[in-house]
Amino acid sequence: MREPGVVSMYVCGPTVYDVPHLGHGRSALAFDVLRRYLEFSGLEVRHVSNVTDIDDKIIDRANSEGRTIAEVSSQYEQTWWEAVDALGVRRPTHAPRATEYVAQMVAMIAALVERGAAYEISDGVYLATGAVPDYGLLGHQDLEALRVGERVEANTEKRSPLDFVLWKKAKPGEPQWESPWGPGRPGWHTECVVMSLDLLGDGFDLHGGGSDLVFPHHENERAQAVALGRAFARHWTHNGFVMVDDQKMSKSLGNFTTLADLLERADARAYRLLVLRAHYRSQIEVTATSVADAQEALARLDALARRFALDPALAEVRAAQAADAGADPAALAAFAERMDDDLDTPGALSGIFELVRRANAAADGGDEGAGRALAVTVAVLAGALGLRLGGAASEVDDATAALLSERDAARAGRDFARADAIRGELEAAGWVVEDTAEGTRVHRRPG
Ligand SMILES: [Zn+2]
Repeated sequence: MREPGVVSMYVCGPTVYDVPHLGHGRSALAFDVLRRYLEFSGLEVRHVSNVTDIDDKIIDRANSEGRTIAEVSSQYEQTWWEAVDALGVRRPTHAPRATEYVAQMVAMIAALVERGAAYEISDGVYLATGAVPDYGLLGHQDLEALRVGERVEANTEKRSPLDFVLWKKAKPGEPQWESPWGPGRPGWHTECVVMSLDLLGDGFDLHGGGSDLVFPHHENERAQAVALGRAFARHWTHNGFVMVDDQKMSKSLGNFTTLADLLERADARAYRLLVLRAHYRSQIEVTATSVADAQEALARLDALARRFALDPALAEVRAAQAADAGADPAALAAFAERMDDDLDTPGALSGIFELVRRANAAADGGDEGAGRALAVTVAVLAGALGLRLGGAASEVDDATAALLSERDAARAGRDFARADAIRGELEAAGWVVEDTAEGTRVHRRPG
């Protein structure tokens, strides 16, 4: 760390021209889990994530819909925050918009031109990748192959096919800002360099994003910082892709390629759990089955929380206070060991589910105290991963929770008439009721 106790982290944010899909949600969750774990461990996290509110795709959408660029970008920025809020992702400490940083981008591009690392041609200003000695390092790119691959490119004024645009000169009808090279707008790769260095400073700790951003986006960000002679990110973290099995989806759960679609059909915590079941670098597959499996696992956690009437505030307990809150020290240490190993969330989760089994077994065997300590540990560790137990935070109110417990007791006592009556009561109140091996589970009926 550059500064003891403080982690500075920059994560590439959305280009706001459409609704977020499952991949965006996965990336937001991956960095939320990293941030939460660092905070759980007692570190302060300065988390910057940008909003790209000027881009070809936004302009295209605005033109085709006869709306202004600001209307399109503000609509989809709002959609973005609603989706990540629904996932329980903590908002970044700063979320700068590209359009707020144009003057600083112009200044940085001018500095690159002055250093001889960028040059102007008829349609814009380009970075001279030849001026960056280790260009291609981050993405482990075979530059010769890239050059050959791009040799058919129309723009013959560029010094190298690898050179990329920093400033796009305005075409008629496009949004534009003033610059020494005439009216235009910045290229995408410039905003993150300017914002990260401005808000986090030189040599910040960590830069992240989806693995599709390694090349060219992150390589090109880094190249600009190198060409400026400034220390850029010390570490890079990239999360894996999301595969969606459309065929199976459409049969059972409908198409949920957008986050909103998924969240209408499943508990948001189930998607977090599904994401946590894979290492952040691996690909994940979202299918009807993998979502249902995650819902079932979540139901086991919620049932434990109900059984021991766990305080939801346990989700906010940090590592240093966990033992005082009644958590099991050996289990805490085992969790930290897994998470410190490049965020081994699959290992950490299987440890948590082992604790669930042990807590239930202890209580079944009459040792309520031992069961409770293990259950408290589960709540604390799940909280460190951003999973709140016992139903989504504000979703299941106390009266409903009491009905759930009463219904579980009725079923256990084979009083099916009472269990059915409670089911009717819950359904009348707008809940979808499910019977699982671990007890009654409810979620809100969509829409
Ligand atoms: Zn970026």
